[in-house]
Amino acid sequence: MLIKKNIIDFKKNIDNSTILVAVSKTKPIADIKEAYDAGHRAFGENKVQEMVNKYEVLPKDIEWHMIGHMQSNKIKYMASFVHLIHGVDSIKTLKEINKQAKKHDRIISCLLQVKIAKEETKFGLSFKETESLINSEVIDTLQNVKIAGLMGMASFTSNENQIEDEFASLRSLFDKLKEIEKKNIKLEILSMGMSGDYKIALENGSNMIRVGSAIFGARNYIA
Ligand SMILES: *Cc1c(COP(=O)(O)O)cnc(C)c1O
Repeated sequence: MLIKKNIIDFKKNIDNSTILVAVSKTKPIADIKEAYDAGHRAFGENKVQEMVNKYEVLPKDIEWHMIGHMQSNKIKYMASFVHLIHGVDSIKTLKEINKQAKKHDRIISCLLQVKIAKEETKFGLSFKETESLINSEVIDTLQNVKIAGLMGMASFTSNENQIEDEFASLRSLFDKLKEIEKKNIKLEILSMGMSGDYKIALENGSNMIRVGSAIFGARNYIA
């Protein structure tokens, strides 16, 4: 019952144009079902196999978001159904998504993951790399992918000013690049903010938040 309440409370507190992705990684089917029964449809997973397993047993009107960093060889398993891939940070991955999307006669929407955190471990493109990827000619040839926006993760820190600076920097890149329109590029989604920092993200222009523990409770292990 707590999950249902959390979902309802969250939706009450964010505006209509903000998309809430409920991050269900490591959580059981029953928990997702509870959120589903509360009317929620967008769920995020960070491992392809886990997402496929859940997709197979859950209602087919769920929108599955791949939020983790993936290996190219796993893309084929989710290409028939994935709704949005958040963590794209190389042309190699984009090419593979394009190839697999084509097999299913689909256009798969993707977000480019941009590195905004100061920590060394985080994945993502630099600002410069993001810009040159979007302006590159090779991207024009990938007609089965759509670049729908940007995604970023702030540093894991209690320093709110730093988090704010990181989100604000991504927002300004987003504002700049959203002027660019190509056949397969139209930046409309800015995916930033998790349980601990979504409020700061929303103040800084996020329109898609990825919330796990604040809805489903703490995870048993770091995922
Ligand atoms: C796990 C995860 C989240 C959700 O994290 P919470 O702190 O539980 O809200 C969001 N985004 C990504 C990329 C994640 O891996």
